[in-house]
Amino acid sequence: MHDFPRYSLLATRYCLILLFTTVSCSKPDPLYQEQILALGALVDISISGVEPERAQQAASAIAQDFNRIHRTWHAWQESELTRINAQLPGGAPFPVQADLIPLLTRAQELSRQSEGLFNPAMGKLIGLWGFHSDEPRGPPPDPGAIAALVAQRPAMNDLRLENSLLQGRNPAVQLDFGAIGQGYAVDTAIAHLRRLGIENAIVNASGDIRVIGKHGARPWRIGIRNPRGPGILASIEMQGDESIVTSGTYERFFEHQGRRYHHIIDPRSGYPARGLASVTVLHGDAVTADAASTALLVAGLKDWKRVARAMGVKQVMLIDEQGKVYMDAALARRVYFEITPAPDVEITGSP
Ligand code: ADP
Ligand code: MG
Repeated sequence: MHDFPRYSLLATRYCLILLFTTVSCSKPDPLYQEQILALGALVDISISGVEPERAQQAASAIAQDFNRIHRTWHAWQESELTRINAQLPGGAPFPVQADLIPLLTRAQELSRQSEGLFNPAMGKLIGLWGFHSDEPRGPPPDPGAIAALVAQRPAMNDLRLENSLLQGRNPAVQLDFGAIGQGYAVDTAIAHLRRLGIENAIVNASGDIRVIGKHGARPWRIGIRNPRGPGILASIEMQGDESIVTSGTYERFFEHQGRRYHHIIDPRSGYPARGLASVTVLHGDAVTADAASTALLVAGLKDWKRVARAMGVKQVMLIDEQGKVYMDAALARRVYFEITPAPDVEITGSP
């Protein structure tokens, strides 16, 4: 999803990097770490507190989950989703696999809450910009073609789901779950680990992270990538069950005649969203955090609070194109900047 294969094997662009720093003198529990390539991205799995053999079996079970999700939801390689997309414009109801329905329904709800700023129904527009490709190259599309697609207003509520039958009521609707694919995979993986009795773990799908339990006696420590350069901007301690997801304009883009065009599209204009470089959302589940990080990046500094509130999201860090950081006081207390000098920070009211 995340436009699945957006990373090649050689790519090393994780948004968030795990830091395992020692904050206590006690001997930590054994940590099992494995990296797999799935959904075209690098996925880090860290499991604490179980025998290596059990941890390794769990990691391979997760790799299979990721592969299944890839085969189901890929936006442009042959998948269940591309089969759905082929049938939607016809307008007649058609059967969909039962296991796809919960995510379709959840995406409809998240899109509605976000005032349509998270809009996985605008796959045509994303394809028009050339982001249905492993290596987006540009040039930017013809403005008339962009305007024509925006005017057709493809939306998630154009989909009707009843008794496992799906019907498209707007021929412009094509689904692209790139904005929540990684988050969904991470949630699925954590649920699977729990079923296997694993209580302390991190799953990190190139920056979309969910944490359960602890690392021995200590919280997990997570690094937040610097959107303006290599390395870590800040770190944060996390434990229990919590997700941290970042959407960044640096993740996928192309350059044309000296201008940069990134992959997070404002459904209202049809053009890449302006103003913010990245949005990081902390929330219980990763799908909500993933949809919200995309929606808030589009909403921008003027509207993010209203949209966050509607999506039930409370902890948000925004970084604008100049590198200024905005976050609420509760999050500011948890974040530790790893760069000197620390960036300019504005404490916002909570959403
Ligand atoms: P990141 O790649 O930084 O994690 P996102 O989670 O925001 O970013 O996902 C971006 C992807 O989501 C794009 O590549 C595209 O497939 C899709 N997308 C772009 N804009 C939107 C939008 N406004 N709503 C829903 N999906 C979008
Ligand atoms: Mg997202």
